[in-house]
Amino acid sequence: MKPMKNIVEVIIDIGSSALNQTFYYHVPESLQQEIEIGHAVLVPLRNRTQVGYVVGYVEQTTMNNMKDIKEILGERPWFDADMLDLARWMEQYYMCSLMDALNSILPTGIKNRVKKTELLPPKVQVRYEKWACLKITSDKMAELLPSLVHRAPKQATMLSILQHEKEMPVRLLLKQAATTHSTLTALNQKGCIEIKEKEFRRDPFTAIQVEPDSPMSPTVEQHLALEKIDKEWKQKQKHPLLLHGVTGSGKTEIYLQTINQVIKEGKQAIVLVPEISLTPQMVKRFKARFGNDVAVLHSGLSLGERYDEWRRIKENKVKIVVGARSAIFAPFKKLGLIIIDEEHENTYKQSCHPRYHAREVAIRRSMKEDALVILGSATPSLESYQKALKGEYLLVEMKKRIDGRALPPVKLVDLREEIKKGNKSILSYSLQQAINERLEKQEQIILFLNRRGFSTFVLCRECGLVLRCHHCDVSLTYHADHHKMHCHFCDHQESVPDRCPSCQSPYIKYFGIGTQKVEEVVKSTFPEARVLRMDMDTTSRKGDHERLLSAFEHHEADILIGTQMIAKGLDFGNVTLVGVISADTSLHLADFRAGERTFQLMTQVAGRAGRGTLGGEVIVQTYSPQHYSLIAAEHHNYQAFYEDEIKARQELDYPPFSHIIRLLITSIQEKQTIQGAETLGNHLQIFANERGCHVLGPVQAPISKIKNAYRWHIILKGENMMALQDTVHQALAAFKSAARTLHVDIHIDVDPLSML
Ligand code: ADP
Ligand code: ZN
Ligand code: ZN
Repeated sequence: MKPMKNIVEVIIDIGSSALNQTFYYHVPESLQQEIEIGHAVLVPLRNRTQVGYVVGYVEQTTMNNMKDIKEILGERPWFDADMLDLARWMEQYYMCSLMDALNSILPTGIKNRVKKTELLPPKVQVRYEKWACLKITSDKMAELLPSLVHRAPKQATMLSILQHEKEMPVRLLLKQAATTHSTLTALNQKGCIEIKEKEFRRDPFTAIQVEPDSPMSPTVEQHLALEKIDKEWKQKQKHPLLLHGVTGSGKTEIYLQTINQVIKEGKQAIVLVPEISLTPQMVKRFKARFGNDVAVLHSGLSLGERYDEWRRIKENKVKIVVGARSAIFAPFKKLGLIIIDEEHENTYKQSCHPRYHAREVAIRRSMKEDALVILGSATPSLESYQKALKGEYLLVEMKKRIDGRALPPVKLVDLREEIKKGNKSILSYSLQQAINERLEKQEQIILFLNRRGFSTFVLCRECGLVLRCHHCDVSLTYHADHHKMHCHFCDHQESVPDRCPSCQSPYIKYFGIGTQKVEEVVKSTFPEARVLRMDMDTTSRKGDHERLLSAFEHHEADILIGTQMIAKGLDFGNVTLVGVISADTSLHLADFRAGERTFQLMTQVAGRAGRGTLGGEVIVQTYSPQHYSLIAAEHHNYQAFYEDEIKARQELDYPPFSHIIRLLITSIQEKQTIQGAETLGNHLQIFANERGCHVLGPVQAPISKIKNAYRWHIILKGENMMALQDTVHQALAAFKSAARTLHVDIHIDVDPLSML
């Protein structure tokens, strides 16, 4: 028997996460059949009308004068009980409101908003288009056509097209028949055709053409890995698998074959990839193997495409979704497998509220829905590798590249020596020579730079002043193309001053290098080379990634210069040289994960070289060639890196030996920010002591101001996550009234990856 649905529990969708509370409503009889968990509803609340979501049924209540649900909005429920359960877990673990958690799950753009009393429509809706459908029998057609050929040739053309197609979009029909609407109307009036509205699919794949392929016969290592996966797949309680395989060891082929197995058994698969720039090549490989069974979900799609893909998943029309972080919420009903490629990547952690990590959500979701999780990486996160060593995850290793191709030799070049040799270029002599050799052999080169314009600050050579943004307290970045400085936090722009604002010296200099600068130097050093640059500036429009990568793939350029976004996943057989302009930028970040990031980045970058039969070489330029992360990267030695790094973490009691919750306090007023941070800090201290947790700070955050808001933070550290969460709950409750009078905002980050 279906549960009674006369009373429902509703969470209200209002911006403020302060109202993390549900309300009960009576369901009018006319809606009782239809209403489901996940439906958007219109409800009265405190003399206003609000949009909310149904999160539960209630059989009985002692409450009287309960108000009525006004209306069900939208064509369907937007989440089911399993997803609601996941949201409730996020609420608890990441300490966000339930509505914040649900906002991550709801498809983008489907929301109705209430503005005063007027209900605004959602940003995205199902799109329809007109189809013409043939209504007459073939006998009738045979009778009619000859008479039309002379009297109304256009109608005849149109009919004979439809005779073939039976039905087709009006848009196409008019084009094929080379005629106008009047012809259509005439046929309609004669009763020959009928015009129907049909759903129109906004298809993100129209630009992607792929040849189908078939499974490759696995190598010995792949075979062993597949066996282990298969064994775990058959277990009742499945452990997540950590697939640690060097770049080019054939991990993707493992994913493809495992998915094949899973969908054969009627289940579905989610594949997460770290970044949108990765998706074109990855998506192609999945499309080649699984064709129309694949959907994609990422922010590079238009709202309409996204919504239509989401519905294809929801309506069981696809079996596999490939996507970025939020694809972990793909509404599959029979999820069997979740693959997280490059599991160590930071992009899996959402950097705004709620700050969830897709890997943790995946593991939680898999337990509930009995799915298998595969985490793949050439450089697993320290957290995951430690779990694998402890047996919490199953470790599967693939140490060889396909065909036994060697990993490319990595050479560290000491930049301090270059200055001594009198070389002032950003390209060391070794790198210049290596580039020359490749150009002569018509092989390709990738030059990698950490972060767009990261070090292109503007500095006074006399007093050392670095020009900073007034709103954000970060250094401004110089952009050569229009000779201006930009702030990469708030987008503030200003011209470069003629004289130092502090000491009036005229010796202002642009320091460090951005991708544009590298491009300039490369072009002047190798005037004959064809150069492509890939960074945020050159990839701001939809399709830019694909276009640039495809141009490089087809050897329309010799050298590709880029940021992080070219470090991962790319697979070009003709690339035989990868140069890292400076490894130092990531090494000197004020963050305990700096060493790990650098090792990962160098290994990933190195993996771009020698993917084909030609072999390859990597040259890393640095001012710190003695750093253990770089030495480990030089020798392709993950274990050596892991041992050094885990020791350092243990000494300082950093994750994975402890958990961290970061509390960021922000306000427009500096005094309030400090006062708020101190008050909250005191509360935390009291509750932390009782629970064996440590409070660090409050201190000014490394970026002390963003968009005019001052920023202070407090780090809470301890072995037991529940004790940490509990401490925060208690302290926040005690802090509530102070927060209101001080007008400060508190941002909570559980397991933070960035401390800036
Ligand atoms: P990874 O994901 O570990 O970097 P890939 O799956 O991309 O590695 O494999 C590297 C290359 O080897 C790809 O070009 C892929 O097509 C090829 N490859 C993978 N498995 C096999 C196999 N069993 N036989 C032949 N070629 C393979
Ligand atoms: Zn100065
Ligand atoms: Zn700024």
